[in-house]
Parts: sequence; structure tokens; C-alpha cells
Amino acid sequence: MKSSSNTIETKAYSESGDSLFLEDVNFTPQGKTISELEDFLMQNKEPKYRATQIFEGLYKHRYKSWDEFTNLPLNLRNKLKLVSEFQEMKVSHHLVSVDGTQKFSFEIEPGKEIEAVWIPSGDGDRKTICISSQVGCTLNCSFCATGTLKFQGNLKTWQILNQVLTVESLVGDKATNIVFMGMGEPMHNYKEVIRAAEILNHPKAFHLGAKRITISTAGVVPSILKFIEEKQPYNFAISLNQSNPNTRSEIMDINKKFPLNELILAAKKFVNELDRVITFEYVMIPDKNMSDENIAAMAMIASRVGKCKFNVIPLNTSFHGWRTPTQNEIDLFVLKLKSKTKVPIMNRRSPGKEIGGACGMLALERKEINK
Ligand code: SAH
Repeated sequence: MKSSSNTIETKAYSESGDSLFLEDVNFTPQGKTISELEDFLMQNKEPKYRATQIFEGLYKHRYKSWDEFTNLPLNLRNKLKLVSEFQEMKVSHHLVSVDGTQKFSFEIEPGKEIEAVWIPSGDGDRKTICISSQVGCTLNCSFCATGTLKFQGNLKTWQILNQVLTVESLVGDKATNIVFMGMGEPMHNYKEVIRAAEILNHPKAFHLGAKRITISTAGVVPSILKFIEEKQPYNFAISLNQSNPNTRSEIMDINKKFPLNELILAAKKFVNELDRVITFEYVMIPDKNMSDENIAAMAMIASRVGKCKFNVIPLNTSFHGWRTPTQNEIDLFVLKLKSKTKVPIMNRRSPGKEIGGACGMLALERKEINK
């Protein structure tokens, strides 16, 4: 944290008319794009090209304080120290599962926690970090543990990226894929999420291919349209979860605001205008959304949308008396779905179950503690 004496010093420079960084004394370098860093430097009469060096220092070399920025001249580093502060997020829990999944809880500030999960694939080729975009969520999907938590705000870009930096540093490895499928609704924190994706994708930063970054939404239609309009290059997933338009609102409140038909039209627009595949996620909940009618409706949706695939995943929490499907139920569901549609169907395993690391389970442990 910047000390108050620094602030006084900065003010003194100001009064002496020295060209220092006076515009934004609380400037946080983390989470900034090159053009934002350029603006900051220019406002403060420093050369623009330093922005790229700062950007690389932050996300490629992963420096944690100005002292580490040996790619910058000492006098510049000293100026930067006076007017900006590096932020930190405390890791409050770190759990390791037998299957290699690791769960991390971060304390954003006292009483505000988020989580990220490291998920290695069985063969070790794919290493995914599932990250949060909000503290809690406003959506209240009835099968999701995050919905049971109080919503406590949007994450800043640096807080989104810090999850990746910290997980990679503690695991001692780098992710091949990032999914915005932790806590929160990414489309409700659009600007910060897109900026984080841009930095994850940037060749001078994390340098992850746009197709290796997946943004997932429960179905915020206007933001999906914005995403299409802006031609965002990232992978996109819609949490369908119920193919029957008449009952989807029973498990996903958001369907009352943006009904399934509108959502399908947005998905179709995505495929047509961007000429890319869209993913539908489908949480399998026995006696709720796994009937033959559901399967027929899923196939119908696939034929309406065209280029799409299904990511089916077993429910892994047991709220409201619902239960996780048995292996037989899952196999039968997938088999029937395969017989009705030609689109790819990915049958996702549920990683790190015993550490509460799987989708929708992130808030469970905390709930136990709060009881
Ligand atoms: N709000 C976004 C991203 C967070 S949820 C969205 O809805 O897409 C990420 C994924 O986890 C979603 O597909 C969601 O349906 C799934 N999920 C939530 N709770 C789950 C649970 N209990 N079991 C299995 N998957 C779950």
C-alpha cells in the first residue's frame, strides 16, 4: 500500500511544478491495457513506448512490484512508486484433490471471497483455470451454489487476472485454457471481463489463443448481441440447462427476463454473423431436464442454431431434493441425444468433487462454515 507520506511527497512535487504523475495518485497498474498505460504515461509527460514495457512486465514477466521492473530506468520506477500502488489478493484457502484439481479461495477484502479452480485433464495436455467474474451472483439459478450467496459486487480486471497469475504461480505451471465459469455472470461485468480476456489473449501478455478463452453466460441476451456486434474473438458458451421453454424459468430466473426463444435467436445470430461454433452447456438433473421430450427439444435447438455443440455435465449438488444422475442415466441420456442430433456432444467429468471444486459447487464449503 502506498503510504500517506508518499502522497505528501507527490503533492510537494506538484507544487514545485515538476512533471510527475499527478493525475491519478491511486493508479493501479495491474489490469490495464497498453493503451490505458499509454494514456497514463502521456498525461504525466512520459514517453508512450514505456507502456509496452510496463505491460510486458506485468503479464509476461509477472513482476509484483516496481522494484522488479528492471526494464525501466530507475528514476521512472521511483516516480511510479510514488503515484501508483500494486494490489494484492490474499489466498485464504488452497485445496488439492486426488484427481489433480486444485481449488483456491481469495479474500478480495474482509468478508468478500471468490474462487478459482485449476483443472488438469486426465492426460495432462489441457490445463484449465476456471475463474470468477463477480463476488457472488445476482442470477439465483436454483441448482447453483453461487446463487445461495449474497451478491457483493463486480471484480475489477486486475482481480480477474490475479486469479490466473496466483494459481499459476502456486501450481508452478501455466494454463492452456481459461474459462469464465466460476462465480458470477460474466455478461453482468462485461467491460472488465472483456478487458481481462483481451489481456489473456495479447501476445505481449498471457498470449493464450482466443479460442482457449471461454466466456459463459446464463443468457443475458443484450450482452450476447453486444458481443456479436463487437465481433469478440473468444469462445462463447450459453448455459441452456433446460430445453423446454415452458419450464426453463423454474430453474433459471433469467429466463423470465430473456426467454428461451430470444436466447436461441441470439445464438443463431452469433453463428450466422461470426461464422463460429457456439457451445450449449447442459447440467443434467434427473426428473427435471433429461426426458425424451427434453432430448428432442435439444436436437431441435441444435438444428435451428446450426454450428453448435453440447457440453453436458452431471448436476453435482443436491439442492431442493434433486440428485446427481447415475452413470446409467448419463450414458442413456447421451446415447439418446447422439441418436437425435449430429452436433458434437462433450460429456464433461466433474472435477475435484471432494474438494468442492466442480461447477456450481464453489460456494458450498463457505455455506457449511457459515451455518
Ligand atoms: N453465470 C455463467 C457462468 C458461471 S456458471 C453461466 O451461467 O454460464 C458456469 C457453469 O456451471 C454453467 O454452465 C452452469 O450451468 C454450471 N453449473 C452451475 N451449477 C452447477 C451444478 N450444481 N452442477 C453442474 N454444473 C453447474
